[in-house]
Amino acid sequence: MKITIVGGTGYVGLTTAVGLASKGHLVFCVGRTKEKLEKISRGIPIIYEDRLDELLKSVLKKGKLIPTIDLTRSVQKSDVSFICVGTPSRQDGSIDLTQVEEVAKKIGKALTGRKEYCVITVKSTVIPGTTEKLVLPALESFSKKRAGKDFGVCMTPEFLREGHAVKDFLFPKDQGIVIGEFDRKSGAVLYEIYKDFDAKILRTDIRAAEMIKYARNSYLAKDVSFANEISNICQELGVDYLDVKTGMELDSRIGTGRFLSAGVGFGGSCFPKDVNALVAKAKEIGTKPRILEATLEVNEAQPATLIKLTKQVIGELKGKKIGVLGLAFKPGTDDMREAPAIKVINGFLLEGAEVSAYDPEALDNARRIFGNKIVYVSKAKQAIASADACVIVTEWPEFADSRLYSKMRSKIIIDGRRLLDPGLLPADFTYHAIGFPKPIKT
Ligand code: NAD
Repeated sequence: MKITIVGGTGYVGLTTAVGLASKGHLVFCVGRTKEKLEKISRGIPIIYEDRLDELLKSVLKKGKLIPTIDLTRSVQKSDVSFICVGTPSRQDGSIDLTQVEEVAKKIGKALTGRKEYCVITVKSTVIPGTTEKLVLPALESFSKKRAGKDFGVCMTPEFLREGHAVKDFLFPKDQGIVIGEFDRKSGAVLYEIYKDFDAKILRTDIRAAEMIKYARNSYLAKDVSFANEISNICQELGVDYLDVKTGMELDSRIGTGRFLSAGVGFGGSCFPKDVNALVAKAKEIGTKPRILEATLEVNEAQPATLIKLTKQVIGELKGKKIGVLGLAFKPGTDDMREAPAIKVINGFLLEGAEVSAYDPEALDNARRIFGNKIVYVSKAKQAIASADACVIVTEWPEFADSRLYSKMRSKIIIDGRRLLDPGLLPADFTYHAIGFPKPIKT
């Protein structure tokens, strides 16, 4: 098929574009920034995701991916157009649909120049009702055509996880695929794209598809906040949360507990934004989203527990040197949107500490956030060598290697993610962690 991805320079858009091109479709990867598109056309993926680099180069070489700024011509040539633009939070937490609306209007205009039936599908995360009340009317009024007759409409929520985006796209078995369809004809076109993927496919209506995305993210975010709350209680009671988590996982009703790890809270471009948007919508329609609000409240406060622990360990932070390991909101990505590291580092700075920081992929994004307020280093060892404490904020696998810490002057580690096995640390170290009852001396 010929497919257009609008928002092709973003995390979801670029992964979808490259993924669909690798499946043999001809994909127009539409962005609005020439510089980014130019990089993509040279095989530079502009975001960090495992395997994206090689896959991008391969689809470009085969002529299957066409990076372009020309939305109109791309849509006119395409059987399916995906809307993958951003849906950020407004100041009050509600969803900002400006990008979606603008793109829907542009696609609507473009449709005037297409004679054959095609399908427009929303992949951006949007509050239930958005596709039917905002996107569809914009498409109809700007194209002067009728949905269902002249073109189809779908909503196909995206479930990829940053850090595993390419794998999740190509092998969505663990996530499943949801097609929200305006009518059977619209859904059949999307089904054709996804039918050969090894995953269950749910065909449902558009509103349910929109809601499934929010329900899933809210459920997982709630698990993270639950884990952090229990971990905080454990810490005060002198109980090791890791043992508690292991004990919980023995209960098959609780399951694998992949979201029950305690830490500094969830971040990223999805959980905080999506839970906030659902809270705002729930209030707007007169319901009380108590669990969702509590989820956000716990999460908001969680970075402060790491700051508090650091103060308990090394005393007043004024003038102290802190080596921070990990800045991205999670390992495997360079994304720092809503990263807990932002709150942790700002807390350290507010207390007068000096911060040197390292992340394998997120240093460029961190520079845009902190400017010259902190020191950036290109090796983990440099961040911690002369620090009064090493604070682990993101659980990149390389930080689990205990040899990394051998040259540390202070020999104090504060683990915000329970990443390290303190038993493997060199002699004379003191190890503290979130949800850990008392320090271990090696
Ligand atoms: P992003 O900000 O990385 O990407 C959005 C892209 O759209 C940007 O590159 C922007 O330049 C481009 N864009 C905006 N307006 C445009 C226009 N008029 N024409 C062409 N391009 C335009 O956002 P993202 O993280 O990829 O998220 C996109 C959507 O997918 C959001 O709704 C998000 O909630 C959802 N989502 C994200 C993830 C994730 O892990 N990042 C996972 C699932 C769902």
